[in-house]
Amino acid sequence: MSENCNQSCNTCSEDCSERKEQKNDFSEKPHEMSSIKKVIGVVSGKGGVGKSLVTSILAVTMNKMGYKSAILDADITGPSIPKVFGIKTKAAASEFGFFPVKSNTGIDIMSVNLLLENDTDPVVWRGPLIAGVVKQFWTDVIWSDVDFMFIDMPPGTGDVPLTVFQSIAVDGIIVVTSPQELVSMIVSKAVKMAEMMNIPIIGLVENMSYFRCPDNGKDYKIFGDSHIEEIADKHNLKVLAKIPIDPEITEFCDKGMIESFKRDWFNSLAQVLQEKIKEDNN
Ligand code: ADP
Repeated sequence: MSENCNQSCNTCSEDCSERKEQKNDFSEKPHEMSSIKKVIGVVSGKGGVGKSLVTSILAVTMNKMGYKSAILDADITGPSIPKVFGIKTKAAASEFGFFPVKSNTGIDIMSVNLLLENDTDPVVWRGPLIAGVVKQFWTDVIWSDVDFMFIDMPPGTGDVPLTVFQSIAVDGIIVVTSPQELVSMIVSKAVKMAEMMNIPIIGLVENMSYFRCPDNGKDYKIFGDSHIEEIADKHNLKVLAKIPIDPEITEFCDKGMIESFKRDWFNSLAQVLQEKIKEDNN
């Protein structure tokens, strides 16, 4: 057993005699120089509900709490992570593998846009090729000393997310929804997929839940009443956060300054994640 053993065989590349059974048969080992404690997949039913935003703010929140965070941008056809972090450099490689790019506050990021010559070039690849690139982000990238890796998953429950879940040992999933979606159906699908993959759902995040008027401080439900609590109860899940529509988000994202965006939306979710690391240390 390695001196640094954290009892998490799924995210360890060592072939030691005390290796426990893998969560699924297809999972790939991370790069042998990587060390990743917890892998959290962030999923949504469709694009545009704020999955990348939630992924980014989560990584920033955990990083500020002193946990080394990383983002694997698996949303290959809509990669928005480098832009919101204001990253202009490209990923470097050595004879051993690729290196993620560090954000201003030290978050390790890998995204297809950090490899393309022009980040406005569209990625017009078929599913298997896209899934192959995501796998390589796991197997060929050297992720050093990561406490939390957040994966910005491709939207939906199609071919690509399925392959990603089969190949990467994800410890838990966070489902991002918005009130205007067919939330009940999306959550049911996510629950079924998670059961098939044997991955726990950590909980739900409702984005664009309400708008707090800066003039009178009142909350307005722009997209109507939310039914997220009933749906969560039905599936025995937790609602981990409700995020308002916040016009400042767009400004911070456009300027690539997500790390300077300060809100306390993820305080309780951060505690849930913190417990997950503590469980391993006990
Ligand atoms: P997804 O990853 O689900 O496709 P994004 O996170 O890229 O969605 O969000 C889509 C757009 O909506 C982005 O421009 C983002 O800045 C904006 N957005 C997301 N959530 C909010 C919010 N709560 N308030 C204001 N704008 C938001």
